[in-house]
Amino acid sequence: MHVERFAPSPTGPLHLGHAYSALTAWQRARANGGTFLLRIEDIDRTRARPEWEAQIYDDLNWLGISWPEPVMRQSDRLPVYRKALQTLWDCGLLFECTCTRRDIEAAIAAPHEGEPVFGPDGVIYPGTCRPPPRTQRTLPDRTALRLNMTRAIATLPGTPLSFFETGAGPCGDTGEIRVPPDTLEQTCGDIILARRNMGTSYHLSVVLDDAAQNVTHVARGQDLFEATKIHVLLQNLLDLPTPIYHHHRLIRDETGKRLAKRDDARAIAKYRADGASPDDIRTMIGL
Ligand code: GLU
Repeated sequence: MHVERFAPSPTGPLHLGHAYSALTAWQRARANGGTFLLRIEDIDRTRARPEWEAQIYDDLNWLGISWPEPVMRQSDRLPVYRKALQTLWDCGLLFECTCTRRDIEAAIAAPHEGEPVFGPDGVIYPGTCRPPPRTQRTLPDRTALRLNMTRAIATLPGTPLSFFETGAGPCGDTGEIRVPPDTLEQTCGDIILARRNMGTSYHLSVVLDDAAQNVTHVARGQDLFEATKIHVLLQNLLDLPTPIYHHHRLIRDETGKRLAKRDDARAIAKYRADGASPDDIRTMIGL
């Protein structure tokens, strides 16, 4: 069975890059006699808006994409995320982090720290709140929780981490991509698995949801290639399957900059309002 998904966040208008991801997943599902699923990634309650969600349904329908109902919405799944956090907490793999962005910047700017290192989520956490004095025995529910990467890796001794790539990473990597566990410490560090007042994070939710929806194939932009390494680690820690990944090229504007949610000028809704057809959109993105 071939199951694809498109998982937008309703925090702004869908742009041409989203159209490319959604149509790629949709076409691949159809070509393989599989299923295309839509998932609404609305864990960031401060930015998610019902009107953006409505616009997502409308734009995708207009592009000729359909999906089975009901749609999975991450905001309905907080208990599932909490259960996974509890499992990791019970294994001693999480620690509470009270650092603000400013604390992290200050720690990194300290003279002995050298140049800051950046990972998929930005600057690598300098370890201020680690190791945890485990003053609290129960899983906290409002504070940020980080994965203790050293311990996480130590629980998977000898497990070869890898995923299969049918597209290409930013450096053209394709085929079986190995994820040497020890490099995750340097390239990702103690990643956040629950954001403050959110109860989860993109990385945690996405692996749990892909598994819950039996997603076998993930098509998404190359900008998420490095994040996939984190997802493979989490899948191994939580005993979840690893889908086959297809990281596709990014849609860029004429200056070469990749499109972002704030690029309203490239929003699908804007092209629609200007009289473009779904075929015009396909042509614009080279499909
Ligand atoms: N909600 C994420 C985004 O819009 C989904 C990324 C993914 O496909 O895993 O970027």
